Amino acid sequence: MIATQDPCAQPTLLHPDDAMVQLLEQVEATEDSEVVELSHSIGRVLAEDLASGLDLPPFNNSAMDGYAMRFADLTPNKSETTLTLVGSSFAGHPYSGKVTANTCIRIMTGAPVPQGYDTVQMQEKAVTNGEEITITHPDKHGANVRYRGEELTAGTKVLFKGTQIRAAEMGVLATIGISKVRVKRVIKVAFFSTGDELRPVGTELAPGQIYDSNRYSIKGLMAKANVEWIDLGVIEDDKEAIRAAFRDAAECADMVITSGGVSVGDADYTKQILSEEGQITFWRLAIKPGKPFAFGKLGKAVFCGLPGNPVSSMVTFYKLVWPILNKMQGLPHKTPLTYQAKLLTPIRKHPGRVEYQRGVLTQNTQGELEVSTTGGQGSGMLTSMSIANCFINLAQFQGDTEAGSMVTVEPFNHVLT
Ligand code: AMP
Ligand code: MG
Repeated sequence: MIATQDPCAQPTLLHPDDAMVQLLEQVEATEDSEVVELSHSIGRVLAEDLASGLDLPPFNNSAMDGYAMRFADLTPNKSETTLTLVGSSFAGHPYSGKVTANTCIRIMTGAPVPQGYDTVQMQEKAVTNGEEITITHPDKHGANVRYRGEELTAGTKVLFKGTQIRAAEMGVLATIGISKVRVKRVIKVAFFSTGDELRPVGTELAPGQIYDSNRYSIKGLMAKANVEWIDLGVIEDDKEAIRAAFRDAAECADMVITSGGVSVGDADYTKQILSEEGQITFWRLAIKPGKPFAFGKLGKAVFCGLPGNPVSSMVTFYKLVWPILNKMQGLPHKTPLTYQAKLLTPIRKHPGRVEYQRGVLTQNTQGELEVSTTGGQGSGMLTSMSIANCFINLAQFQGDTEAGSMVTVEPFNHVLT
């Protein structure tokens, strides 16, 4: 689909993939770390490799409720053998007696299989008559036994620096007995919206004013990005107010994000002050929604200036800022998974920019993926983000697409849902 010599190309616009590479080159992962309790580690990024101090499982144990025996005691050429019951092994209460020929013990799932016994048969395949247990032969030696170290042996690295601790990692850390873990420090992000027309929710609107929604949608995204959020409110289009806000933000945060004030028509002084206070580049991206984007340094802080249009600010956050934040937190870059889906509604598009149209992805009764757009795709129509569960990714020089065509969809990941 992508043609490099298209006459509609706007050479001054930067492709978002190229922008991504350039942006990521300009930020560093934090080297700072801290030790946190395992129970408070969800979402954090491991600052060191971790090896298991234990074999997993730590002892031979039963995978079934049933009877443990010696496979060698099972009568050859017969399908059943009667053994003498000599004791039991329950989870947390091992059998401490002797293991002798032609005996078995009652055993529960997770209970230690005593040394000497090697095989377990499930209780449904055994008949009890007092101390005589007739066992239908298990398939093979070692059946239903989970052997010590079969998952991994002590000393093996189980989790690596740069891994984000999710539910499974919390469990793995607990399995190997770790109660405190060294993680990268939390990245602090200061955010403010700019615009004279913006009012905070909970106040009355005068003519020409609108509510500041970006502070809330970006706060929602940020909550999923495991960062500390510093809310600096709405700053009016006033030279000194903006200068003071930029200084405050840069002092308290690793990253400063603003919305509005980076497009062509914006009050010049927003850009002027940014240029005076830091090293900022104003980017024109071949991306829709979201063409204007500012990036650079404000003091020690990384600066990202999002476009004010509500859909544009969410899309540029998701596509550009979130990967930068991930890198700063010490996470490796991951390209999002995409799928092919059948388009149910036609799409209108002018060649020239990569478009992330908002779509609703479903699966039909045959299990095939189908997608329709959410309707109007204006960059101010924030309800399109609420209705959608995916982006429909349209290549830079692609034009209209007819219903019935296959298109690339990118389901929203946890940050957008
Ligand atoms: P700007 O990027 O400042 O030129 O703004 C572009 C459009 O987005 C204008 O229609 C603004 O009113 C609107 N806008 C800017 N900031 C916000 C915000 N925080 N919440 C809602 N709409 C906004
Ligand atoms: Mg504005």
